[in-house]
Amino acid sequence: MASNAACIFCKIIKGEIPSFKLFESDKVFAFLDIQPLSKGHALVVPKFHGEKLADIPDDQLSEILPIVKRVVKATDAVDYNILQNNGRIAHQEVDHVHFHIIPKPNKEEGLSVSWPAQ
Ligand code: 5GP
Repeated sequence: MASNAACIFCKIIKGEIPSFKLFESDKVFAFLDIQPLSKGHALVVPKFHGEKLADIPDDQLSEILPIVKRVVKATDAVDYNILQNNGRIAHQEVDHVHFHIIPKPNKEEGLSVSWPAQ
């Protein structure tokens, strides 16, 4: 499995940097964003290190969307954005492919988030 020793998300996947883990499989890792744009802002990443979407082999990508869906369904989010940035001009800051799940709060008190058990 390709990994990059200098990559912050590879370090999170390996547990070298702590994160709030939501889900893990052989190929995919999901965790909360450290600077959430809204409560429950999550990131879903392939374990395979690749900078942009086109760098990731299909077999590594195939699990991603079902897991994005699973994480979405585990929240109370009715409205949400799925975002995937590629390249600096497109506002990519971390050079390891990742899908943002950004819930849009629709209650006064915000979201009530309950995450799936492993
Ligand atoms: P990008 O702009 O590359 O699409 O988004 C990168 C995201 O990664 C940002 O929302 C940022 O807050 C998040 N991020 C960066 N470093 C860390 C970290 O060490 N831990 C976690 N949980 N999220 C991070």
